[in-house]
Amino acid sequence: MKLKRAIVTGGAGFIGSHMVDLLIKKNFHVTVIDNFIGGNKKNIKHHIKNKNFKFVKLDICKINNNKYNLFKNVDYVYHFAGISAILPSIEKPSKYMNVNIQGTVKVLEASRKAKVKKFVYAGSASCYGLNNSEIDEKTKISTEHPYALSKYLGENAVLHWGKVYNIPVNVIRIFNAYGTRVRTNEDYGSVFGVFFNQKIKNKPLTVVGDGKQERDFVYVTDVANAFYLASITKKNCNIYNVGTGSPQKIITLAKLIGGKINFVPIRRGETKKSKANVRKIKRELKWKPQVSFKEGIKKMMNEIYK
Ligand code: UDP
Repeated sequence: MKLKRAIVTGGAGFIGSHMVDLLIKKNFHVTVIDNFIGGNKKNIKHHIKNKNFKFVKLDICKINNNKYNLFKNVDYVYHFAGISAILPSIEKPSKYMNVNIQGTVKVLEASRKAKVKKFVYAGSASCYGLNNSEIDEKTKISTEHPYALSKYLGENAVLHWGKVYNIPVNVIRIFNAYGTRVRTNEDYGSVFGVFFNQKIKNKPLTVVGDGKQERDFVYVTDVANAFYLASITKKNCNIYNVGTGSPQKIITLAKLIGGKINFVPIRRGETKKSKANVRKIKRELKWKPQVSFKEGIKKMMNEIYK
């Protein structure tokens, strides 16, 4: 039987590499496109010898006619490639617009020519801005920084290509994803990356404010599963939140990781609470989170101390 074929852009990155693991387990042929700016070889090294795995070092912004062969006979495209982090986006807005919007358009164009069966876009819950109430997919959009805007406009491009060119597309708006392989080597990483970096270096964990602010953390393999379900469904041009609906306090996270805590001043423009309403994805795609917060942290601790 012919294997199903997938492309994962950003497949050497944090979430993308878990997507690759899931697809390989499901017996797909997987092509990863990554430029190793945010991604890392070590996230995919366990697949390198697999005949159903192919790696292409390529910047999505450079996908033109001459690269369209890569997309031939591909069933599903999972588009994770892009650049993240808020502060750098405020300093270099045009770079963010270029990679996250124009880069997305390049991947869309290649997917359109190849007539792929589904394109799933990694959207960001940052499009909801500083909203403390429970957030469903119809909640008002409020982009507060260039990163949020670039991801939101990328999402608009995806839905536009879905409508105008009839490519089957879906969008997943990711809340706070965490898990093994989270990036710990940068100044502007997510709180998990920062805390684990500090833990590895035996430094105190820098808890912002009183640590009572809450985030909707969702484990990375649950996120990957959401993308898989969004690709195999007949549903189209839909947006799905992915979170757990059970936000956790930052101080709880710090205590579960353990060690000394250093309370640092509140950062401007941060929301106090983020809570996803995930009824739509549960109802329509039969998705549900499998990994509890405690289990997720345990998996990450095991990664550090293995
Ligand atoms: N945070 C923290 N210490 C840090 C970095 C972040 O206490 O060193 C907190 C931050 O105040 C926020 C939460 O962790 O409430 C999540 O921050 P992150 O940057 O991961 O995501 P976002 O704020 O964009 O949801």
